[in-house]
Formats: sequence, structure tokens, C-alpha cells
Amino acid sequence: MSLKIIHGNNHWQLMRNAFFTLVVATLLGSCAIKKSEQVFVRQDDVERLIRTLSSDEMQGREVFSPGIEKAAQFIESEFKSIGLQPLPGLKSYRQEIIVRTARPLATDVTVAGEVISAQHALVISDESSVNWSEKDNIPVHYVKAGESFASRYRAITALNKPAVVFVDESFFDAFKRLRDHHMRDRVFDPSDQRPSTVYILTDNDSPATFSVSFRNQIESSSMSNIVGVLPGKSREKEMVIFSGHYDHIGVIDPVAGDSIANGADDDASGVTAVISLAKHFKQQDDQERTLVFVAFTAEEVGLVGSKYFSEKLTPEDVAAMFNIEMIGKQSMFGKNTAFITGFERSDFGKILQKNLEATDFKFHPDPYPQQQLFYRSDNATLASLGVPAHTISTVQIDKDEYYHTVDDELSTLDISNIQATIKAIALSARTIVNGSDTPTRIPPVKN
Ligand SMILES: [Zn+2]
Repeated sequence: MSLKIIHGNNHWQLMRNAFFTLVVATLLGSCAIKKSEQVFVRQDDVERLIRTLSSDEMQGREVFSPGIEKAAQFIESEFKSIGLQPLPGLKSYRQEIIVRTARPLATDVTVAGEVISAQHALVISDESSVNWSEKDNIPVHYVKAGESFASRYRAITALNKPAVVFVDESFFDAFKRLRDHHMRDRVFDPSDQRPSTVYILTDNDSPATFSVSFRNQIESSSMSNIVGVLPGKSREKEMVIFSGHYDHIGVIDPVAGDSIANGADDDASGVTAVISLAKHFKQQDDQERTLVFVAFTAEEVGLVGSKYFSEKLTPEDVAAMFNIEMIGKQSMFGKNTAFITGFERSDFGKILQKNLEATDFKFHPDPYPQQQLFYRSDNATLASLGVPAHTISTVQIDKDEYYHTVDDELSTLDISNIQATIKAIALSARTIVNGSDTPTRIPPVKN
């Protein structure tokens, strides 16, 4: 560059230009967003992902259905186009799980010689048959009138032993809900087989004799979690997990001719967040820790996919889990808000709040503690192993009229709020992704 000598007011002109350049540069400098604070999540892409995953073509994505296979292939193609790697040790994004399915066939129960109707008998079993009587020394339990059926059920299940449970007839409704939940096709992981338990609704509070004859049709089947990885730059052994579940409840009883439960909110919105976050962090390309993006299968039939995935990991290697469940509509706190389950169990939530202080998005503690959401979603297994694994959601669980219905459709969702929530997760996760923050571990649950 050559310098010419200049005289008089030109000198001032030059000074003024230099001054203005300086001002503009400073301004640009200050408002130039650091790459680490840029978020690459486009609204039209969010809409495209949810529209595809919740389309009628996916037939409500029930496990073992052609619809869920289509969804799996779609998620794989997104992971491929982003350029994610398979989990170490796997050749593809599919983490295959060989499970067993149990279909109850016949139940015959008598109490003190009296035949019990099928509606009053519930057998929860992973075995092909159960044939018991009072002579078999099976532990016997009672649920008396006035007790809490739910906590008795949890206590008996936690014993993890074979059991016969006589339940007072005043619990008919709770018993029916439990029976409806268990007496359908069930999926279980053979390595996680449970002892059989039999619940009998009766007004006989101390029967001397009983008999149970039960048959199950047991089959082996395969299903897959879809997993993609962005290896860490410097702390690759430490993982940060972003997850949602891609299964839903499939085809259900028709309402006005519509029988497809599209699951746009539950949980196509969460899987959309997982894919969008993978795209964002790939573009950021500054992850110090390894990022793992997972679409779980079989959440609706007992958290089978996340249990299997979690048990394959070393919990100490997992720095945090962001499980994203139902972010389709505004939370009870209004626009640009979401809640975190188990907020009080680690400082995970506080770290996220800190990282969003300069934005208009706010994370809140779970407003529905009585619903026990912390234990009911795909974060539960890793959380029980001490990992700061939490679910992020906006669901208004106490009044969501579309939950598990044919009306959980794209048209009921707030796409701009979903985009804002995904952006908030991306921004709030950055100090955990770059390793400058490490959330505290979840204390083990005292039984
Ligand atoms: Zn769900």
C-alpha cells in the first residue's frame, strides 16, 4: 500500500474517517456474536422434521410396526447428512436390542375354592406359565382398605421377589388401570427378567387356599435405538447425551374416523430437538466432550430402549444427559419457558439458567412433582446410576387434552416456541459441552 502526502482540511477529513472507522469497528466488534454463542437452528427445518415424524405415513410409530421402521430410516438419513459417527463398536447408527414380547393368553384363579373373574385377576409375568397354589410357599401380601394401593404396589415391586397379593375390592378402579396397563403385549429385556407377581381383587381378607394358572405367549423380537456421535476434541472419554424417544402408541380406537396417534408432541418434538441439536453442534464444531445424540425406542412400553442404552455405558463417563420430552406447546409458565425434572437433585438446572441469563428464555423447576416425571421418562435409568440426567419439557401434563390421543398433531403445536426451546438447550448446554462446567452427580435413591 503507498502513502501520499496530503495538506489542509483533508487532514481533518482523514482524522474524522479514521475515527468513524474506529467507532464502527468497535460497534461491530461488540455486537459480533461469538461463534460459541451463535445458534444454528432454523424454524423451517424444525417444522420439516416434526411434520415428517408425525405424518400419517409413520402410523403413530408403535414398536414392531412398519411405521416405526420408516421413522428409524428417516432419523438415520438425518444423522448421515449431518455427518455423525456411529457409537464406538457399532457399524451403523442402530443399537439393536433383542427383546422378548409377552402376550397374556389365559388366566384362571380361584380363592378359597371360589372362581375369580378374569377382571379381578392380574398376572405380571415374563415367564411362559405360572402355576401356583398355597402349597408353593409364595410370599403373600395384602392391600387393605384405606391403604395406598400405589405405594403398596411400588413397595412389593421393589422387593423383586415372586408374590401373590390379595387386594381389597375398594381398589377396583386403581386395579383396573393397572390391569389394563399390564394385560396387553409387553416388551421386556430378557437380561432384565422380573419374578412373577399375581394380584387378586377379593373381599376375602385372609384366604387359606388359592390357585393360579396362567399362560403367556413369549416371542423374541428386535428393535433399535438410533445413536449418532460427535467425538470430543480434548475430553473425548466424557459424554454429554441429548435424547428423545421416537416410538409412540400407533393406531388406537378411532375418533371421528381418525385412528392414528401421530405423537407430534409426544415425542416427535423431542426427536426433532435431538436432530436439530446435532446439526447445531456439528456446525459449532467446538465440543471438548463427546456428544451423543439418541432417539430411543420403546419408551411407551416401559423405557426399554433407554434402559438398555444406559446399562451399556459406564455412568462415570457421562457428564450429563438432556432428555427432551414433549416440547411442542407452551409450558404453564408461558412463551420462551420450559421446565427441568429433578431440578433439586443436581446443579444441572442452575448451570443452564446461568448460561441463559442474557436471553429472554427461562428454565423452571418441574411444576408437577406429584406426577413423578423424573422417574417416568428416559432419563430415569442413568439418574438412578448417579448421572445428572434430567428431562426438559413444556408439557402441561395436568391439562393436555391431546396427550396419547389421535389429536396430538402438528397443527396443535407452537413451532416458534419449539425452536426457541431447542435454541435455549443449545446455548445453555455450551459450558457442559466445552467442559468448563460439570454438573454435580445425582445422589443414589434411598429405598
Ligand atoms: Zn413421550
